[in-house]
Amino acid sequence: MSTMTKSETASPAALAVRSTGAHLLPTYARAEFAFERGEGAWLFAEDGRKFLDFGGGVAVNVLGHSHPHLVEALVNQAQKLWHTSNLYRISGGERLADRLCELTFADRVFFTNSGAEALECAIKMARKYHAVNSQPNRYRIITFEGAFHGRTLATIAAGGQAKYLEGFGPKVDGFDQVPFGDHAALEAAIGPDTAGILIEPVQGEGGVRSLPAQCLRGLRELCDKHGLLLLLDEVQTGVGRSGKLFAHEWAGVTPDIMAIAKGIGGGFPMGACLGTENAAKGMTAGTHGSTYGGNPLAMAVGNAVLDVVAQPEFLEQVRRTARDLNQRLAQLMDQHPDIIEEIRGSGLLLGIKCKVPNTEFVAAGREAGILTVGAGDNVVRLLPPLNIGENEIREAYDRLERACVALERKAKA
Ligand SMILES: *Cc1c(COP(=O)(O)O)cnc(C)c1O
Repeated sequence: MSTMTKSETASPAALAVRSTGAHLLPTYARAEFAFERGEGAWLFAEDGRKFLDFGGGVAVNVLGHSHPHLVEALVNQAQKLWHTSNLYRISGGERLADRLCELTFADRVFFTNSGAEALECAIKMARKYHAVNSQPNRYRIITFEGAFHGRTLATIAAGGQAKYLEGFGPKVDGFDQVPFGDHAALEAAIGPDTAGILIEPVQGEGGVRSLPAQCLRGLRELCDKHGLLLLLDEVQTGVGRSGKLFAHEWAGVTPDIMAIAKGIGGGFPMGACLGTENAAKGMTAGTHGSTYGGNPLAMAVGNAVLDVVAQPEFLEQVRRTARDLNQRLAQLMDQHPDIIEEIRGSGLLLGIKCKVPNTEFVAAGREAGILTVGAGDNVVRLLPPLNIGENEIREAYDRLERACVALERKAKA
């Protein structure tokens, strides 16, 4: 047996050119190509192809790729300071928290690196709230079928999807799932151990299923009646995606706790858990933490995203763009009734419910030069940058049209 290590046997040149993906944990079914560069709504592949990006890194790139204000914020911060830990004050994070609280129901913010971590903090905050109110038995959280809250052990338990839970040992206790839209089941699930209700204003991964405004108001009333906390997962719907800064604003009610991520970093990994002063009262020094959460790089980008997205005129423009895209999609459905069953969603989180397998629709879109993302319930998600222009919307329509024609031809063949 050789005593040489792998790195000693492989030549530096071979290591430099070799990029097979064979050493990555194969947990993703990846497309066979990679991108080299992005600009606005466009992505440029290494093989020279150009794609209109309506996937947005799965609802992340709210301002498209290489937005100058975000690049500038990141580069400036990178030249000054990357990381200090949360043992010290971080002024960018203090400022971002001030701004988020100014713009929302919240009084307290905890920064994370991802959506799942923001949800973990939200779940812990809800449990701790009841514990410090001398009701530590109240730790159970009601969730909804079709939900997606992340891939950590607690968040797969919250999401309750068998395919994500299977083989990973006992499901984390404390989540009671009810069918989406079943009021009787929801009321029946509330017991003496219930801490709160957790819901996405629009189920993203679950198939772009919107929670009607009156239902969100009903949940708020139910929580108030039973002394429960209302936890919203706005990881996908937040930061302008719905045409308001946060989707719950459409219903005119506020949660006690909210998890955000995706859009707030515009492509830089970050998330946050927001809470009212009351809901957050148990989260005192030492109760929670993160090495990287709230680091100066993320905070610089988060502040830069808010500079743009929180402008009322910007959100007004998102709503206009969403109406335009919605109309075009309705037209597409009229012209291709054998391919498209329904258009759903709100703002620039739109779903095409397909009559062909959604994976085939996504593949046909790629062939036609537009990137989309699959979701549950045989839906294809469209998640364009929020600052997308009219020309690109028209271009998207043409490419989706071409994809539909190709799918029809395939069905006839
Ligand atoms: C993406 C997503 C998450 C998980 O976020 P990660 O950053 O992947 O951990 C949680 N909830 C919702 C609604 C999401 O869309």
